[in-house]
Amino acid sequence: MKREPTDQMVEKAMRRFKLKLDRLRMKQRLQQCWCGSGEYPNANYDGHGIFLCYSCSKCHAEKMKGYRPDIFESYECDEPIEED
Ligand SMILES: [Zn+2]
Repeated sequence: MKREPTDQMVEKAMRRFKLKLDRLRMKQRLQQCWCGSGEYPNANYDGHGIFLCYSCSKCHAEKMKGYRPDIFESYECDEPIEED
């Protein structure tokens, strides 16, 4: 039994297709660094592994300026402190 697609079905498929496209565009926007370099950014984490921001090689220095340098150091001492 063959069923002809109804207008409703076509509309639904179109909507789904549009949603997929929107999502793809959004993903692409997320994948490229928003500084406009067109490069793919890397995630930056602080010393505790907490996510800070994304940056590419073009804007990495600029983005890192906004953070205190000491947050990149892990102040939880996992390594034993050697005493002389
Ligand atoms: Zn960038």
